Amino acid sequence: MKEKFIALKNDISVILKSLGLINDYLGNHYLLINTVQMTLRTVAPYITVYCTGLVITALTQGKEFSVILRYVLIASFSTLISDLIMRWMNFYRLTMLNSCYYKHCAVLSRKALSLDYAKAESSSVQTLRGKIEETANHGDGIAWVADMAAQIIANAASIVIAIIMVSGMAFGRATKSLSGAMKFADTPYFTALLAVITVLCISLTVKYQSIAEKKNFKSYNSVKCWPLKEHYDKKYLNETDCGKDVRIYNEAPLLNEELKTKVYEPITRNVKERFKIWATYGSVTGIISNVLGGTVYIFVGLKAFTGAFGAGKVVEYYGAITKLINSCSDIAGCFGYLRANCPQMKQELEYLALTSDMENGTRKADEIDTDNLEFEFHNVSFRYPETEPLVLKNISLKITQGEHLAVVGMNGSGKSTMIKLLARLYDPNEGYITVNGIDIREFDYTEYLKLFSIVFQDFKLLAFSVGENIACSEEYDEQKVWNCLKMSGAYDRVKEFPNGLKQSIYKLYEKDGVDLSGGEEQKLAIARALYKDGAFVVLDEPTAALDPIAESEIYSKFNEIVGSKTAVYISHRLSSCRFCSRIIVFDKGEIIQQGTHEELLAQPDGKYYKLWNAQAQYYNEKTTA
Ligand code: ADP
Repeated sequence: MKEKFIALKNDISVILKSLGLINDYLGNHYLLINTVQMTLRTVAPYITVYCTGLVITALTQGKEFSVILRYVLIASFSTLISDLIMRWMNFYRLTMLNSCYYKHCAVLSRKALSLDYAKAESSSVQTLRGKIEETANHGDGIAWVADMAAQIIANAASIVIAIIMVSGMAFGRATKSLSGAMKFADTPYFTALLAVITVLCISLTVKYQSIAEKKNFKSYNSVKCWPLKEHYDKKYLNETDCGKDVRIYNEAPLLNEELKTKVYEPITRNVKERFKIWATYGSVTGIISNVLGGTVYIFVGLKAFTGAFGAGKVVEYYGAITKLINSCSDIAGCFGYLRANCPQMKQELEYLALTSDMENGTRKADEIDTDNLEFEFHNVSFRYPETEPLVLKNISLKITQGEHLAVVGMNGSGKSTMIKLLARLYDPNEGYITVNGIDIREFDYTEYLKLFSIVFQDFKLLAFSVGENIACSEEYDEQKVWNCLKMSGAYDRVKEFPNGLKQSIYKLYEKDGVDLSGGEEQKLAIARALYKDGAFVVLDEPTAALDPIAESEIYSKFNEIVGSKTAVYISHRLSSCRFCSRIIVFDKGEIIQQGTHEELLAQPDGKYYKLWNAQAQYYNEKTTA
C-alpha cells in the first residue's frame, strides 16, 4: 500500500513537472485555453439534455408553441455557438500541441549538444537518449500530458454539473396516492439506493477502465522492435548506406524475411493483443454502463410515475446520470494514461536535468599569447569513461610555438586520444595540460576552443551548403571561403557546382544536393579548419581518403596551409611526416621515441625504424609488382 502511495506521489510529481515544461514552452494561456476548450466540449451536451427536458415538460404541460420554440431555439443556438467556439479553440489547441512537441524535441537536442562530450558519449547517457528516442516514436510524451490533464479538469467540471442536475431528483415528492411497493419509491431510501448503485457501477467502470489503460500501455511498451524498424529504414533500406551491398549480394529476400519476422509480425501481434484488451474491457464497462442506464431509467421512470416530476425531467436526469458515468470513466482513462506515460516523461525529465561534469573556467582566449603558444602535457594518464585500460600512460610532452609535430604509431596506440585531450573533449585522469603555463581547465571552454583548427579522422560534414559547411555559419565571407577551398585543393570541384558556394551537399534536404567522394569531403573538412583560422592546427590522418595526387598536393601545401602556426600532424604514412620538425612515436599509450626523421632512422632497434622499413618494403613490393 505504502509503495503504491509513493508511486502515485512520484507520478503526480512527474505530471506536474511536465505541465511546468509545457507552461515554459507555450505560456500559461495555452493550459488555460486547453482546459476551457475541453470543459466546453464536455459540458456542451448538458445544454441539449437540459433544453430537451424543458421542451418535453412544456409539451406535456400543453404550453404555448412560442414557449416550446424558444427552448428549441435556445438549445440550437447555444449548441451552435459552443460548437463554433470549440472548433476554433480546438484548432488553436492542436496547433499549439504540435508546436509543444517540436519545442520539446528542440530542447532535448540542445541539451544533447550542451553536455560535455565525455558525458554525452558515456553509455549511460547514450542508453537514456536511445530510450527517449525509442519511446518518442510512439507519439506519446509531453504533448499529451496537457491534453489529458485538461480532460481530467473538464470531466471533473462535468461531474459537478451532473451532480447538481440530478440532485433535484432527491427532492421530488409523489403527487399521487401510492400503495405497496410504490410507496417505497417516494422515500429517501429509494433515492439513496439509486445513489449507491450509481457509485458502485462508476467505481467498477473506473477500475476496469484503468486496468485496460495500464494493460494497453504495458503491451505497447513490450514491443521492442521499434528501434529495429528504424535501423532497417535508416540503414538497410538507405541507398548510400547499404544499397550497394544489398543489391550485389541479393540481400533483399533476407531483409524482407527478417523484417517480416522481427518487425511486422510482432507489431501485428501486438496490435491484435491491444485491440483484444479494448474489446474485452470495453465490453465489461459497456455492460456495467448499460445495466446502470437501465436501472436509472427504471428508478427515474418510477419516480415520474409517482408524479414526483414530469416526463421532461426523466430525460434530463437520465441524460445527466449517463454523462456522470462517462465523465468518471473518462477521468479514470485519462489518469491511467497519464500514469502509464510517466516512465517516459520521467526519462525525458531525467535527461533534461543532466548537467555537464566538465569544470569550466573563466579565462578568455585573448589571455593566451598566440604568437608564443606552448602546450605541455604533464604526466598525463587517461582511460575512457566506463572502461578499464589506460589508453594514455604518463605522457609528458611539450609542443612549442611554430613547431610542426608529427605523431606516428600503430592503430589504437593513443594518437587521436591525445588530441581529444588537448581539445578537452575529455580531461585526463591523472596529470594535467597547460597552455602557456596555465592549466587549460582555467579557460572558459568555448573561448579555449577558439585556439584550434582540427580535422579529425572521422570528421563529419553537414547536409547544408558548401559555404555554410566551411564557415559553420549562415553568414560568411565568400572570398575567404574560396581562398580556403583553394588551399585545401577543393576549389576546382566547387567551381563546377551549379550553385557554387550555395550548393547543398548530400541529398538529405535538397534533391539537387551533390554527393562527394571521401577525398572531396576531406578537402572540404580541411577548408573548414582553415576558415576557422585557429592558432593551433591538428590534422588527424588528413590524407587517408585522398588519391596519391591529392595527397601529394596536401603535403606540398602543408606549409602553406599551416604556415607559421603550431601544428600536429597524425599519419600512418611515415613518408608524409618527413617535413615535420619533430616526430613522436606512440606505442600502447606511451611515447617511446622522438626526434627528427633522420635521428629516428638512425636507431635500428627503434619502432620508427621498423615501421619505416615495413612501409618501405610494402611500397617497394608494390612498385616492383
Ligand atoms: P589511434 O589514434 O592511435 O589509432 P586512438 O587514440 O583512436 O588510437 O585509440 C586508442 C585506444 O582507445 C584504442 O584501444 C581504442 O579502442 C580506444 N578508444 C578510442 N575511442 C574510445 C572511446 N570513445 N571509448 C573507449 N575506448 C576508446
